[in-house]
Parts: sequence; structure tokens; C-alpha cells
Amino acid sequence: MTSATTASALDVLHDVFGYEEFRGQQAAIVDQVVGGGDAVVLMPTGGGKSLCYQIPALVRPGAGVVISPLIALMADQVAALENLGVRAAFLNSSLDLDTAAQVEQQLLAGEIDLLYLAPERLVLPRTMALLERAQISLFAIDEAHCVSQWGHDFRSDYLGLGVLAERFPNVPRIALTATATPATHAELTERLHLQGAEHFVASFDRPNITYRIEPKASARSQLLNFITTEHPGDAGIVYCLSRRGVDQLAEALAARGITALPYHAGLPAEVRAENQARFLREDGIVMVATIAFGMGIDKPDVRFVAHLDLPRSVEGYYQETGRAGRDGLPADAWMVYGLGDVVSQRRLIESGEGDQAFKRRAMTHLDSMLALCETVDCRRVQLLRYFDEESEPCGNCDTCMTPPVTWDATVAVQKLLSTVIRLDRERGQRFGAGQVIDVLRGNDNDRSRAADHESLSVWGVGADLSESQWKTVIRQALARGLLESHGDYGVLVVGENAGPVLRGEEEISLRVDPVKKSGGKKAGSRRRGGPEAELDPADASLFEALRAWRAEQAKEQGVPAYVVFPDATLYGIVEAKPSSIDRLGQVSGVGLKKLDRYGPAVLEVLESQVG
Ligand code: ADP
Ligand code: ZN
Repeated sequence: MTSATTASALDVLHDVFGYEEFRGQQAAIVDQVVGGGDAVVLMPTGGGKSLCYQIPALVRPGAGVVISPLIALMADQVAALENLGVRAAFLNSSLDLDTAAQVEQQLLAGEIDLLYLAPERLVLPRTMALLERAQISLFAIDEAHCVSQWGHDFRSDYLGLGVLAERFPNVPRIALTATATPATHAELTERLHLQGAEHFVASFDRPNITYRIEPKASARSQLLNFITTEHPGDAGIVYCLSRRGVDQLAEALAARGITALPYHAGLPAEVRAENQARFLREDGIVMVATIAFGMGIDKPDVRFVAHLDLPRSVEGYYQETGRAGRDGLPADAWMVYGLGDVVSQRRLIESGEGDQAFKRRAMTHLDSMLALCETVDCRRVQLLRYFDEESEPCGNCDTCMTPPVTWDATVAVQKLLSTVIRLDRERGQRFGAGQVIDVLRGNDNDRSRAADHESLSVWGVGADLSESQWKTVIRQALARGLLESHGDYGVLVVGENAGPVLRGEEEISLRVDPVKKSGGKKAGSRRRGGPEAELDPADASLFEALRAWRAEQAKEQGVPAYVVFPDATLYGIVEAKPSSIDRLGQVSGVGLKKLDRYGPAVLEVLESQVG
């Protein structure tokens, strides 16, 4: 498409992107930027941020400059735009000099609509001079939270971006991020000199994601069961805390016939790049990763994000789970967590770097995360409240779908706390959960005998609960600050909130952990995770045929499958079963260029299947 000087935003939305209407605040944001104003956009992952700058860049004369820290992903972003018929290019350190010079020439000749740049490249005097000679329609600063010192991925190059305000006073700037906290918002506004911008803060709800947090029994077989029964053949991400955990799990999954690849900072760069490329390009790959993986990955059809270890904060959890279901189709955020996670996270914080204030903050983050895990109310309500957003119970999380059963655990908690106190007073020593449970249950074993636990007054006072019930009680007591764990061995001490319970002034009700049913059949009437579950068999095989065709196309072009068509569009095609090019053009996500390029082949697949 040529520089769309006269095209209206809606025309571009229809013709180039093949979409019927703007979503949420997109229209208002596009208006603001097309009109030459600045914008700050806070929108969750999958909210549709890209269109907010891509469309103004196509409507306004000149090239839109997109600043993104994600060099590895630029080639795919450009390929996706080229597939839509948009003249896009990137400049970063991966280009050879000739290619870079060519891109610069095209920019000056007005032959580029969107130019992707890494921040370190942009701030070079040479690049600044180049941009000053070209016609620039806008600057889009993606992942704008990177200017925040408190952000997780602070990039010093981003600080230099403030100069754009002075160097290009007449070019509109739009900063975008999926980080929701007010602190980050304020900081990026200031550092990017966007005080005069209009601010667009979207709801951070991701209604298509189902949140589920289950007690950890045997994490690996729980995960295996989850993938094989609910997400066979789907793309997903599994997060683990340690590199070793990642390697072992990826191997274990692969041994069970699941296409799983590892990703962590300890792997050679080529391996990481290769695994990431396969995850993006091939269908149905499970990426087993540390949190080093995922920033900026805009693969729209990730059907699940699983956590096998407790994330450090609700923010982290929300960012990571947000990578599921960007296409708006049903997706699962699934996590298992147990007593061991609480103990090991506390140990990590205690023995980690940072001063006391830092550690206190880390503990507070952990406590919020634990509160989310143990809540008996809607998970989504809690999550959104964390970002200052009030909402109603969602009906699409585990606590809404299967309200947890609670029991009066006041006496049990009192027994637990007095046991911890007695051990400390009468033995002058602190113990981990294992020995505390030994004492409570009166477990006559070597460990107990060696420590002479039988002589304690609390010996056996908790024999009415099983080992695993006590683990559940201890886990929840830790999560509520009734207990604390310390040191390498996770020794238990009485927590800050224990007083009222010990004095009999507060009743404690705890969740009953759901009993795991063995066998493939799942509890309740939970639907299968993937959207393909909703298709009847004929449609399912049509969908598979389209997917196979798409895989071939993507392979030929060396681009990710979603660049050809995202799943959402394939579902639209299956639903409409268009019999003509015109009809196909009406399916959401089929723009003019793609209709032209892929239309005949798609109709052929349809004919061969529908017959
Ligand atoms: P973000 O960058 O905010 O995570 P994207 O820009 O990647 O989100 O958009 C998420 C998905 O939603 C993409 O597949 C995109 O094509 C689709 N999308 C965005 N806006 C619209 C719209 N107005 N109509 C239909 N689909 C849209
Ligand atoms: Zn809910």
C-alpha cells in the first residue's frame, strides 16, 4: 500500500487489517495521534496496542518510527506488516551495512510507512540526523515501562528517549505499555516528557483467560495431565524458577511425546534464538522457561501459561499469564503451588541480595501472591484489585466455577501455633514443617526419638489430621502471616498475625484442598481449555486442514504461522465457510492484500474439505 495520506483510519482498519471495528479505546487513541497529539497508553497484553500506532502511521504522511527493545522480534513484526501489504523495515545491530544503508535510502525517499528501531540505535547522533532529514509521522515508544528504574527490565537507552520531545517538537509521540501500576505510569510520563499527552488507561481484565491455582501434589504429573487432557497439540508456556528445573522438565515432557523446548539465560544464545524461533513459527510447541522468556513475544495463540513454581509477585504473575490468549480466544492460566514454594521463596528473599527495605518489599510482594493463591473469593476480582480496579466475580476462574469449601480451623491452628511455641521454649530450638508435623501427629520415628519429642506436652495433639492436611494448614498459616519460615531449613516461628488466634479472639477458616481424582476424567463440568473444543468434528477437521495449509505457507516464507493468519481468523473462516472471494474478504482479519495473496488457496482447502 502507498503512504495513505488521504485514507481514513477506518478504511485502513478494514482494508489493511481486515477488521470490522476498533476495540475499546483504540478509536480514541488513533484519533488523538492522527490529529498530531501525544498519547500515553496503558493496555493489557492482547488489548490491541499495535493498531494504536500502526494505523496513525499509515494515515499520517511520512514514516512512523517504532522504538522497541526487542531486537530479536523486529524481523517478525516487519514480516507481519509486509504480509498485510505495509511497507515496513527495521534498523538494528543485526543488519549488515549495505542493508542498513538501503533502509536509510528508502526512508529518505518516503518509501517506508513503519520503521522499527532499537533505542540504542535511535539515540546515536547519526540516527537522529537521519530522522531529521526524513519525514516522520510519529514516534511510538513500545514497552515504555523500560524507562522505569523500578521496572523489571530497565534499559538505560530508554532514558535518552526524552530528547525526542525537544528534537521533534512537531511529531506526535505515543508511549505504550502493559504495565499497570500508577508508579510506572507516572515515571514514564515524566521521563519521556509526555506531560502534555492524553492518557488512556484501559481495563486490565483479560476475560478470555481462565485463572486456576491448584495445590501442588506431584507437579510434573499434574502438568502432564493438564496438557494431555486439556491442551493436546496447543502452544503453551510453562514457567519454572530454576534453570535446572527447566531443563529437567523439558526433557520429561519430551519423553512423554510433547514437543517441549527449554529456554533460560544459561543456554547458549543460538539455542535460545532457535527455540524461540521454533516456538513462534511452529504450531503446538510447549516452551519450558524461566521468566527470562516472554517479554514482547506477541504470539497470539498461546493457549496456556502454566506455573510450576510460585511467581515472586502478583505483577509478575499477571505479566506472565498475560501471554496466554492474546487473540481473545479461551486460554488457561494454570498454576500449582504448595508448602515448599512458600518456604523456598522466603528463603530466597532472606538470603538474596539487597538491603532490608528491599527484602521487606519482596516479602510484601510474596504475601500478596500468597493471598491470591489462598483466596476463597474470585481470583480475577483479587487480581484486578491489585491494580486498583474493582470488579464483580467473574465466573471464569476456579474459585468462581468450583467455590472452595472451607472449614473451621481455629483449633487446628491453635494446636499448630502452640506446638511451634513449645518446641521453641521447651527444646530451645526451631524446627521445619516436617518435624512440627511429627510432633503434632505423634509420629514415632527415628527423627522424633532422636529429639525426644515424645516428652513434649503437645506430642500427638493433632493426630486427628493427616500429614497432608497438616501441610495444607501450615501452608495457609504461612500465607496469612500466622506463621513465618526462616533460614535454609525453613524453620517455623510464630508470625505477626498469630496473637488474636492464640488468645482465642479470632476464628480461622481455611480452604479444604480439593481431593485430586485419579484417572483422566476431570472434576466438574469444566470445558476443555482450547477453543477447538467448541467445534463439531467436521469443523475440527476443516480447522486442522487450514492449519496444515497455513503451516506450509509459513514455512515457505520463513515467518511465524500467525503472520499468515492468526487462529482467530481461521476460526472465522471455519464458521463462515465462504464459497467466494468476496465472502472470504468479509471474515475478520482478512484484509485486501491477504485476500489477494491467499484467497484462492484458502477456498481450495475449503472445497476439498466441505466438498
Ligand atoms: P498488544 O500489543 O496490546 O498485546 P496486539 O496489538 O498484539 O496486542 O493485538 C492482539 C490481537 O488482537 C492481535 O492478534 C490483533 O490482530 C488483534 N486485534 C487488535 N485490534 C483488533 C480489532 N480492532 N479487531 C480485531 N482484532 C484486533
Ligand atoms: Zn472468578
